[in-house]
This record gives sequence, C-alpha cells and structure tokens, in this order.
Amino acid sequence: MNSRIHSIAGNLKKMKTDPSHPRINAESKQRYASKVLALTGVLQTTLETSELINLFAKELSGFVRFDGVSYQLPELQIHISVGSLTSHSCQYQLLVSGEALGEIKLFRFYPFEENELETIENLLSGLLYPLRNALLYHRAVQTALIDPLTGVKNRSTMEEAIQRELKLARRHARSLSVVLLDIDHFKQVNDEHGHLYGDQALRAVAQCVQKTIRDSDLLFRYGGEEFMILLSGTDAEGSALLAERIRQEVENMRPFSNRDIRLTVSLGITSLRGEPDATALLLERADAALYRAKQGGRNRVEFA
Ligand code: GH3
Ligand code: MG
Ligand code: MG
Repeated sequence: MNSRIHSIAGNLKKMKTDPSHPRINAESKQRYASKVLALTGVLQTTLETSELINLFAKELSGFVRFDGVSYQLPELQIHISVGSLTSHSCQYQLLVSGEALGEIKLFRFYPFEENELETIENLLSGLLYPLRNALLYHRAVQTALIDPLTGVKNRSTMEEAIQRELKLARRHARSLSVVLLDIDHFKQVNDEHGHLYGDQALRAVAQCVQKTIRDSDLLFRYGGEEFMILLSGTDAEGSALLAERIRQEVENMRPFSNRDIRLTVSLGITSLRGEPDATALLLERADAALYRAKQGGRNRVEFA
C-alpha cells in the first residue's frame, strides 16, 4: 500500500514532502493554469461542502483514474467519502495562508504514479479557495443554528423542524413523537459547584442524549436546562422506550472525575394523533407530561 502525505498550500513552496522535486513547479503550474481556472469556475457554483467534494471528484475523474475520495475536517465534524476507499492512497493536508482546511485522500486499487500525482496536486490547488469559501459558509450556518454551549440545535430552528416533520409524518402516514427533557434540581448543581461545572454538566447531558438517540432524531436546546427531542417515525411505544433509556443513561453518567456530580432528568412525551394543527398541541401535551414527571418525584418518564 502506498500512502503519501503531502501538504497542498496556497503557497506551493509549503509542500512538505520532497521539496527538492516539487511536482508543482512554475512550468507545471503554467501547463495546468487553464485547467485549474476552469475547475475553480465549476467548483465555485456551490457553497455546500459535500457537493463541492463530489464535484471535485467528478472533475478530477476526467484527468486521473481513481476509485474514491475521502475528505475530513474533524474540527467541524465533516467526514465525506465518495466511491470506494480501496487499498492505495495519496493524502493531502489542505492549507490556505496557514489555515488548515482539512485532509483529502484519493484511493485506488493500484498505486498512483508520479505524473498522476502532479495532475492531482495541480488540480487540488483549484479546490483550495472554493473549499475555504464553503467552510466559511458552513461555519456561518452552524453559528446561526447551533447552541454554542451544548453543540446541539438551538431553539430558533425548532419550530421549522417540527412543521417539516409534521408535514412528512402526514404525507407518509408516519408516526411522530416529541420528548421534553428537563434536568432535575439543576439550580442546586450551580449553587453547590458553580456555573462552570453547571455548564459542563449541561453539555454532558446534551452529549449523553445525542449519543443515545438515532442519527435521524433531532435534538434541540429548548431553554436553559431543558431539551426537546423530535422522533420521526417513532410511535408512543418506541418513544417511551427511548425516553426511559435516556433517563437511565443520564442517571448512570459520571461527567466529572474530580467531583461526584450526579444528574437525573425528567421526561415528558407525546405522540402525534392526527390533529390538523398539532405543533402547539404537541408541545403543550409534552410539557404537561413533563410537569407530571416532576410532580411525581422527578427522574422519571411520563406519557401525555
Ligand atoms: P427542577 O427539578 O424543578 O427542574 O429544578 P431545577 O433547579 O432544575 O429548575 P429551576 O427552573 O428552578 O432552575 C433551572 C436552573 O438551570 C437555574 C439556572 O441557573 C440553570 N441554568 C439554565 N441555563 C443554564 C446554563 O446555561 N448554564 C448553567 N450553568 N446553568 C443554567
Ligand atoms: Mg427547567
Ligand atoms: Mg430543571
């Protein structure tokens, strides 16, 4: 297996490997200039990262044979792969003016040759600026939609998500459930341990819930220490099982090694019953169920 790690930078002198034989020298750059320009033109048509990588792969396949591409930027939780990730690969760290734009890897069943690497590297330089723009856009969208403390979706996106899921549920005659979760006696955590620990505990609960639900379930921070989970395609029975699992997971969680902070949560659930205008009703019912869970002694699940 050959795997090469290189650095592709806006400034090509920054290539890490084999600096004495840079594959992109002035002459090579000249030869590829029009291709790179055309490629950049195509790539600039999208700001969506995965679409961009797909487009790049499609364009590159006109020049070099390969089986698959993977791209990742763990910092933004971006992991994209296209095609098959076969045994040989070449790998590049993408940089623009010292800014890390992630890592791209090309895969093939047999090794890449020098002249192919030259082509790949030249064309990668056409990906850099469109990719930087896409990542800027990605960050802006994230900032607008994601709660910075917990990393889950914020409330501003909740209403729209419920409306959308309701429509889908009706159109496909699917079930839909809503779970409201509130951390028990959270004020005490802040009072006893301070807000810094309170914040971390809040984040730990959010991560615990996120880990317990499916990828298709949607988790929102509803308010201070309250969360909403939207479960599409899940009926009353399924959502009750899930809520109970979340309750147990949080109860068993020990978020701090240096402090014995234990948390519990109360959960209220409701499911769609085919009402015509259900958004407000669903939240109202889940809230009433949550209230009963609190009244009933907390650390429990109640169904509306
Ligand atoms: P209950 O079991 O009835 O829910 O009791 P509680 O103490 O959790 O409820 P209460 O509504 O009295 O208090 C909620 C607390 O959550 C108070 C507030 O300081 C805390 N809180 C809300 N948002 C944050 C946050 O972002 N960080 C921290 N550290 N605390 C928060
Ligand atoms: Mg509350
Ligand atoms: Mg609470």
